[in-house]
Amino acid sequence: MWSSLLYIYLREIYLVPPQQIFRFMFLFAVIFTVLIGITYAITKNMELSGLLVFLISMAMLTNQRFFYTVLGISLISLVGARLIFLVRKSKFPESAPELIISSVVFTMFLFLIFTVGKMTINIPRANTQPADALITSPSQVNRPDIYYIILDGYESADAMKTYLEYDNTRFIADLESRGFEVSKDAFSNYPITILSLSSSLNMDYLDKSTKDIKEKKEWWLLSDSMKNNRVQEILRSFDYKIIEITAWETSSFGENQLHPYLIETNEFEKFFIASTGLTYLDPLLGEIVAFPSFDMHRKYVTSGLEMIKAKSKEEGPKFIYAHLISPHPPFVFDKDGNPVNPPYRYNTLDAMEYSGTRQEYRDGYVQQVQFINHNILDVVDEIIINSATPPIIILQGDHGAGLYTDLNSSEKACINERFSILLAVYSPTAPKGWMAKDITPVNIFRSIFNEYFHADYELLPNRQYFVSGGQIYNFEDVTSRIFSTCNISPQDVFTK
Ligand SMILES: [Zn+2]
Repeated sequence: MWSSLLYIYLREIYLVPPQQIFRFMFLFAVIFTVLIGITYAITKNMELSGLLVFLISMAMLTNQRFFYTVLGISLISLVGARLIFLVRKSKFPESAPELIISSVVFTMFLFLIFTVGKMTINIPRANTQPADALITSPSQVNRPDIYYIILDGYESADAMKTYLEYDNTRFIADLESRGFEVSKDAFSNYPITILSLSSSLNMDYLDKSTKDIKEKKEWWLLSDSMKNNRVQEILRSFDYKIIEITAWETSSFGENQLHPYLIETNEFEKFFIASTGLTYLDPLLGEIVAFPSFDMHRKYVTSGLEMIKAKSKEEGPKFIYAHLISPHPPFVFDKDGNPVNPPYRYNTLDAMEYSGTRQEYRDGYVQQVQFINHNILDVVDEIIINSATPPIIILQGDHGAGLYTDLNSSEKACINERFSILLAVYSPTAPKGWMAKDITPVNIFRSIFNEYFHADYELLPNRQYFVSGGQIYNFEDVTSRIFSTCNISPQDVFTK
């Protein structure tokens, strides 16, 4: 069982931190013991119960590849052993097949634990420096509630018009009529979520903190700098309550996280469930356990919106960080909020890895934008009504859509599409125009702390960095290409 677990982990090793496998390892050990106990009580035969439990594990806790790998190696070993016995003309022992299968699984386990260990132990992490303490003290400033709402993959109205032929100006006008300032040409600093959020929450570019891990591909080397990000650290020192609403463990601070499920699963557990027979338990447990499915995805989005509203009633000062995976794929809502189930197995892949056709991407994205527009306006209205002192609300895309973006090569990526983002800020107590018109996410909290907490952060120059081929710490400066609309066709990006 553990071999299968490590085998499946190895496929996701770049995305998922190793500590996420421990809970399932423990759980499987418990299940194993209980199953052996039960089957032994029934059969009174240790060998038979061993076999039964082996079969149950194979059916429920492995994926096909693992199954065929074990089967393949076992058969080869078995035939080999038979031949050796044939050549020596000695009798083939009856217990040999079982012994061989056990040794194959055990050898695989050793091999896997060695490989996973080598890839995860003692590798350097991104080393973000803690923020300098601000000179101002909490009592000297007003402390408005701050809402940092990330709408994953939400791009600017201009980009939507150019690449999706969709006119989103009505929504922008709705925001402006509520007092938001919307940057018309807003660009993210990075093209993928983990980099974008890690940078904006640490108020800095990532080249310094990741210079020792340039060649690495593991996303989770940033998890420490997400957990101890400077923004929450500063706000904590100003006695803010930190509240997190995120469906994605890697982007979380690991504290005060709100979940819609009684039993939350981490990313590894979701991958594991999705690729094994455990996925069939969804109808049985799906209401209380976060089973990876389009239903789950919808629940994270709708409950995320509800939780922001509910939390806005609580006393402040508070920092609410909400990361909603929408309008980013999968496209699971139509424009009226009705459920849509895409015709492929649940995943959250974007850009050239998106599982549908480019027409489905275009249509699905546009519908989901309309759905989220409507709902986020409700959320904003509710926050404003519930706030005793006017809050700060930041609505931001962490990057744009991915219809023209191949994340394997900056040449094949539409930089203008991928970096264009929605960036709207509500801050009625600050003087109009206080935030630079061309602000990028790296400077948002620098500006807020300067304006509201009398801090003295210099604003960093606006830069855009592309990463390709999975080497997410190998940054390529593409700032000069940011305004040029692309002449890449989606056919070059999408195979379907
Ligand atoms: Zn994203």
